[in-house]
Amino acid sequence: MVYNLHMERIIFGPVPSRRFGKSLGINNVPYPKKCTYSCVYCQIGRTFDFRIEREEFYKPEEIEKQVDEVIESLNDKRIDYISFVPDGEPTLDINLGKSIDRLKKFGIKIAVITNSSLIWRKDVRDDLKKADTVSLKIDAVSEDIWKKIDRPHKDLNLNKILEGIRIFSSEFKGELFTETLFIKSINDREEEIEKIGEFLKEVKPSIAYIGYPTRPPAEKWVEIPEERKIDFAYIVFKDKKINVKVMEKKEEKFGYTGDLTKDILSIVSVHPMSRKEIEQFINENKGDVKIIGSLIERNEIEEVEYKSEKYYRRKF
Ligand code: SF4
Repeated sequence: MVYNLHMERIIFGPVPSRRFGKSLGINNVPYPKKCTYSCVYCQIGRTFDFRIEREEFYKPEEIEKQVDEVIESLNDKRIDYISFVPDGEPTLDINLGKSIDRLKKFGIKIAVITNSSLIWRKDVRDDLKKADTVSLKIDAVSEDIWKKIDRPHKDLNLNKILEGIRIFSSEFKGELFTETLFIKSINDREEEIEKIGEFLKEVKPSIAYIGYPTRPPAEKWVEIPEERKIDFAYIVFKDKKINVKVMEKKEEKFGYTGDLTKDILSIVSVHPMSRKEIEQFINENKGDVKIIGSLIERNEIEEVEYKSEKYYRRKF
């Protein structure tokens, strides 16, 4: 197995994904998290490395080689998607398009899950167009609300982003998803929901996912909206002829590649695991649950409590 400088895997999983089934994740932006946003609900914590310039992190041939090795090492080789879903924003990687080109040889659908913040750039849109499926984050269409929920880099401009989304949706031939997470008292006002719905009507995604955080958020004060707000958003979007789906939390099954410690670290760096999930993962793969305590002691992971449940995430 190949690791980057911080001994993290570039490839993780397969992990279960609410939208992409059994998904082999590509962490194409190295640890620690580099992002254009610092969303209040981010499940990997606050952004300390804020940036909007694209750069090279890994060589596309290195990513291809690692995907090849991971697929080879899997007992169950059935994978629904190869997904770019890194510690941070995948379009910060200047080699994104080149990496997608190389991964096509595996004959598995490729998805990119982006926060949309750099989509005003033509080179970013061109890279995203190479994927089979692109998921765009659209949490708000009003500047003040966008700033409160996604806490963008100071040089980003919401109108440019929304225009970039419009252009992309008119040009992209693949499957376009959108994702809107609602947070209580931030973007769940009826007026904003209506405005987001109007914008989504223009974008015409195949599926507009709506949801709320199901894992520990970056900020402790973040609360999920009342159920009636999610219902309201669902009805408003439906009424606008948008194919809307609510993202539900479900039991999840993680992939094992032969090294339990490294598997846990690579999964929790992008996808915090609950106590039940992590124990189940260790037991299924004949490990010792003491591994959790030793990873905490070594400061590699941290325990956080969310809705009376313990979760484990990578410690940055
Ligand atoms: S949720 Fe995504 S876009 Fe927001 S800060 Fe976290 S990694 Fe960045």
